[in-house]
Amino acid sequence: MDLKEAEGLAWELIEQFLSAERGRPWQFRFTRSIRALGVCNYLRRYIGLSKPYTELNPRAVAEETIRHEIAHVLAGPGVGHGPTWQKRAVEVGASPVARCRISDLVQPPRNWMLLCPRCRAVTPCYRRQRRRASCSVCGGKKFDPAYELLQLSREDFAADAAELATIAGPNPTPGQPEQLSLWPAGRFGTITETLKGS
Ligand SMILES: [Zn+2]
Ligand SMILES: [Zn+2]
Repeated sequence: MDLKEAEGLAWELIEQFLSAERGRPWQFRFTRSIRALGVCNYLRRYIGLSKPYTELNPRAVAEETIRHEIAHVLAGPGVGHGPTWQKRAVEVGASPVARCRISDLVQPPRNWMLLCPRCRAVTPCYRRQRRRASCSVCGGKKFDPAYELLQLSREDFAADAAELATIAGPNPTPGQPEQLSLWPAGRFGTITETLKGS
């Protein structure tokens, strides 16, 4: 959905449901979140909508998220997605569920790959990692330069996959061509998605 339109829609819904709220008026802002579609910040009094998800998905996703967060405002902090919030969700036209149920939600691309040269686990990530990291399977929880992960852009990873396989240690199945999957299950770190409004 177009971001300008999404922002317009957010302000319309805020006006419709939150203009009678006491205290400072509620605001809207986009977030860079890739973990949550939306957020309700009670302290700073704003409703946030994930820019990456909004750009990639249809209006229905943005609208559902905004209504979901408005229900959080009306329900107040500390009630989670319990009955108080659910009642409010229904009132403002949101599905009374914690997680987005839109099945064909388009996710932002994971453009960076972390590769362990030793165990060959590959973990896709959304953003370039600023800090050096090591494989927690091969090493431990603490950073260990002996098991430092290689970071590659998605393109470089795809282009170099064959070469990487040769530097990545002995082929565990001799005679078989080496395969590096772009999407293996993360063997270290968690890449689980929480597609929910918080
Ligand atoms: Zn490893
Ligand atoms: Zn929520």
